[in-house]
Amino acid sequence: MSLVFNNATLVDLVRTDTYAGTLRNIAQAQPALNIMEKYWAAWYTYMNNDILATGLMFFLLHEFVYFFRCLPWFIIDQIPYFRRWKLQPTKIPSTKEQLYCLKAVLLSHFLVEAIPIWTFHPMCQKLGISIEVPFPSVKRMTLEIMLFFVLEDMWHYWGHRLFHYGVFYKYIHKQHHRYAAPFGLSAEYAHPVETMTLGFGTVGMPILYVMYTGQLHLFTLCIWITLRLFQAVDSHSGYDFPFSLNKFMPFWAGAEHHDLHHHYFIGNYASSFRWWDFCLDTEAGPEAKLAREERMKRKAETAAKKRS
Ligand SMILES: [Zn+2]
Ligand SMILES: [Zn+2]
Repeated sequence: MSLVFNNATLVDLVRTDTYAGTLRNIAQAQPALNIMEKYWAAWYTYMNNDILATGLMFFLLHEFVYFFRCLPWFIIDQIPYFRRWKLQPTKIPSTKEQLYCLKAVLLSHFLVEAIPIWTFHPMCQKLGISIEVPFPSVKRMTLEIMLFFVLEDMWHYWGHRLFHYGVFYKYIHKQHHRYAAPFGLSAEYAHPVETMTLGFGTVGMPILYVMYTGQLHLFTLCIWITLRLFQAVDSHSGYDFPFSLNKFMPFWAGAEHHDLHHHYFIGNYASSFRWWDFCLDTEAGPEAKLAREERMKRKAETAAKKRS
């Protein structure tokens, strides 16, 4: 019996053999719910098994959002007109290379990521992550998602920086660096250990949050994971447009930031924002290198002046 209404009688009353019928009944019985809440409640009521409903929903959400977001980048790669915005315009990934990557990513999704997805609901229940309708306020969800972006970025910066050390790079992170000029699909092309470790930033930070606050809704997690997937795919797209997000939010990393990481192998370790690399002087690329050298030169000159 689903806990979506926290009311077993209501679930029994609105449930039918079809999803559409369940949705219709919910719309009649609970007119105050918004459209998204009605679809959500109908899904859990119709499935009548919360573990299966959450597992299947997250698996489909991941597959659909990831490949749906990769598709436009794959199409753009086939059209020469867009080369003017390509960060490494001479390095266009071949269809063969993209298909190889697609196969590897699909295999990893089914083998590595399927297990945590199926055990997700029991963990949510233990932690007190709610699936009930109505959803929390938009303001609350927005603030939580903003916090997750900041926390994930911090985790990613340090985890990714660690992965560039000796053995960690050689045996784990090297796989992701197969592509010096990344493309959308390559976002999740990584060693399973890397997927699990860096993936902790996406799933583990909300878990720590709910352990601390005792409150989090599963719908907030769905929106967060969708936005995080968009961020990951877009930062690997290899394209920087005049209307890209980093043009309006200068602290947003975007493709320009991560492309330099793949191109030069060192620096620009963060995922969403530029502040960690800026503050800890790990920015990548020739411009950042020049600025670093200038700074070091000035420092040395000032020190020499002080001595004389
Ligand atoms: Zn790296
Ligand atoms: Zn990457």
